[in-house]
Amino acid sequence: MTRDQLEALLAEWGEPRFRSKQLWTWLYEHKAGSFDEMTNLPKSLRARLAEETTLGTLTLATERQSTDGTVKRVYQLSDGQLIESVLMPYRDGRRTACISSQAGCAMGCAFCATGQMGFARHLSSTEIFAQAATIARELAERGERLSNVVLMGMGEPFHNYDNVMAAVRRLNTDLGIGARHITISTVGIAPKIRQLATEGIQVTLAISLHAARDAERSAMMPVNRRWDLEELLDAVREYQAATNRRVTFEWALIAGKNDGLDEARSLGRLLQGLDAHVNLIPLNPTSGYDGAPTDPEQAARFVAELERFGISATVRVRRGIDVDAGCGQLKSEVLRRRRTPPEGAP
Ligand code: SAH
Ligand code: SF4
Repeated sequence: MTRDQLEALLAEWGEPRFRSKQLWTWLYEHKAGSFDEMTNLPKSLRARLAEETTLGTLTLATERQSTDGTVKRVYQLSDGQLIESVLMPYRDGRRTACISSQAGCAMGCAFCATGQMGFARHLSSTEIFAQAATIARELAERGERLSNVVLMGMGEPFHNYDNVMAAVRRLNTDLGIGARHITISTVGIAPKIRQLATEGIQVTLAISLHAARDAERSAMMPVNRRWDLEELLDAVREYQAATNRRVTFEWALIAGKNDGLDEARSLGRLLQGLDAHVNLIPLNPTSGYDGAPTDPEQAARFVAELERFGISATVRVRRGIDVDAGCGQLKSEVLRRRRTPPEGAP
């Protein structure tokens, strides 16, 4: 519930106005894990809350913890849809939640496990927000704080623009996460990039590029046939002019496909004049795509070539690789297990 919805509910129950503030403080400042902890609320109200409402809307279906500390989860929503979220702890103290914006995805990128599943439905703003709120509450229980949120889980955030923006605003107001610490990653829906430029919100924008020429990009990412590189980069330039924010470009390094030095040069030319940073992520292999990750030596050569164009680039460590923490991968694994009858079954 938003704060307004909570106030309306308590008013309907005949509670005095200050109760909603007390309850809100328990939820979002103390990050209480149960109604019983809310000791300044009357017992009768705590009992009614426990009876008629739930804390959080997500039911855990599977959880895996990686040796690098990454925790990957699949949640089951009230209609049975499965979505993923991930918590990534970093040595410098940052705690980053990677959350989903849709169940499945309609964009059909060839290399992506979520794209290979197809689209089921949009998530509500509450379902998006609750993924981060759940992690924030658990971290608070052990004295840690959720510092960053990235919309890089399942789904295309700009295909569900209004719900995503409503959730982003709640991350800011209800969880106290600064807009600069929130990253929205998009496949490149140009009109929505332009719309974001008008919102007056300082989120970080990440663009999934993966190819710097239209023929190659259209073959991997069907969305490029609708908004090609020229249109996409025009929208990014408009966004940058309006916000003065550095834009991140994501590039999954696929051996022999988009990791050659000529590709690096095309990318360098494409991004010339922009305030840009490139994140290079060696491909996470998926069952539906025949491709392999680039080796570290070639990745380093790619970075060096980009630097000749004055473009900074970082090769990202693939986190949680041992727990299928790539986009859509753990859900595919859960579905496979559900389809496969247990051993010994008739
Ligand atoms: N739909 C949004 C956000 C979710 S995907 C988008 O596409 O940007 C988050 C990032 O993971 C994107 O950059 C996406 O291209 C990348 N990605 C998807 N599948 C991948 C894979 N198998 N290996 C490496 N990166 C992948
Ligand atoms: Fe959708 Fe992003 Fe996967 Fe493409 S990479 S299919 S846009 S989730």
